[in-house]
Amino acid sequence: MTKQEVPAQQDDEGIYRTLLESTRAIPWRIDWATMQFSYIGPQIESLLGWRQSSWVSVEDWAERMHPEDREWVVNYCVSQSESGVDHEADYRALTSDGEYVWIRDVVHVVRREDGSVEALVGFMFDISERKRTEEKLARVQQELEELSYKDGLTGIANRRMFDSIMDVEWSQSIRSRQPLSLILLDIDAFKEYNDHYGHIQGDECLRRVANLLENAARRPRDFFARFGGEEFIWVLPETEAAAAQMVAQRCQELLRREAIPHARSRAGGNLTISLGVGSTVPDRGDDPLAFIERVDRSLYQAKQTGRNRICTVE
Ligand code: GH3
Ligand code: MG
Ligand code: MG
Repeated sequence: MTKQEVPAQQDDEGIYRTLLESTRAIPWRIDWATMQFSYIGPQIESLLGWRQSSWVSVEDWAERMHPEDREWVVNYCVSQSESGVDHEADYRALTSDGEYVWIRDVVHVVRREDGSVEALVGFMFDISERKRTEEKLARVQQELEELSYKDGLTGIANRRMFDSIMDVEWSQSIRSRQPLSLILLDIDAFKEYNDHYGHIQGDECLRRVANLLENAARRPRDFFARFGGEEFIWVLPETEAAAAQMVAQRCQELLRREAIPHARSRAGGNLTISLGVGSTVPDRGDDPLAFIERVDRSLYQAKQTGRNRICTVE
C-alpha cells in the first residue's frame, strides 16, 4: 500500500499516538467499571522505572505512591471522579529504585450521554523541579521572618530579601523558559514632599504607599520590596510583558484612588509615581544586574519624559 492509500483515520491515529508518546507528560486512561488501566504512555517507564505493562489497575497506581500522600489523594480523586468533576492532584510517586518523584496528575472525567462515568483520562507531569523551587522559596520566605529581611520603616521586604528572591526566580526562569518581569517604581518629587510636610510625615507616606502598592499583584510568587529610599520593586515570575504592564497600571490606579495630597506635586495636587517595566527570559550566563539596570533606565526615562507614567524596556 502506498502512502496515499493509508486510510485517513489510521493516519490520524498514528499522528496522535506519536504525539502522545513523545510528550514529556504521560497520558493514561482508566476504565471506570473495571478500575483497570486501558492505556498508559510508555514514557512512564523512563520516569518511574516500572514497566508499562505493570500498570494494570488503580491499585498499582495507589500502591506506588508515598504513604503520606496515598490516603488523601485516592479519596480525593475517587470522590471527584464519582461526582464527575475534573481535578488534579500533586503527590510523590514511588520509583522502582525506591525514590520518590513529584507528580501532578491532571484528570478529566469522561461521561456517557446519561451522565454516568465511563472512564478517567489524564496526564501525569513530572513536577519535581518545580517542587524543589517551591521548597527553596519556602525556605527563603522563612528567612524573611527569621533573619528579619524586613524593611524597618514600611514592614515589607527589604533590599536583601529582594536579592535572595531575585536570585531564585532568575535561576528558575532560566530553567523553565518562562518570562520574568520586574517593575521598578519611584515616588515623584518626594524630596519636595519631605520639604513641605516634614520628614515624619514623609515616613508615614512611605508606609502608606508600601502597604497600598503591595496589593497590586496577587499571585503566590509575586514579590514586592522596598528597593531603597522612595523606590519599590515588584518581581513577577512567569509573567509576560502585557501582564506586567497591567500590574504597573494597577499600581498607578491604586495610588490615584488613594489620592494622597502633595501640595507641591505638578500633577493635580496628589502624590504620583513613575514606573519602569521589563520582561525577559534569561539565558544561562545572563546577569540579573544588567536586567535590573535596563528596567532602571526605563524608570529614568519615565522621569525624563514628565513623571507620573510607565515606561517599558524595549
Ligand atoms: P523624582 O521625581 O525625580 O524622583 O524626585 P524626588 O524628589 O522623588 O527624588 P530625589 O532622589 O531627589 O529625592 C528622594 C527623596 O526621598 C529624598 C530623601 O530624603 C527621601 N527619602 C528617602 N528615603 C526616605 C525615608 O526613609 N523617609 C523619608 N521621609 N524620606 C526619604
Ligand atoms: Mg523620587
Ligand atoms: Mg529615587
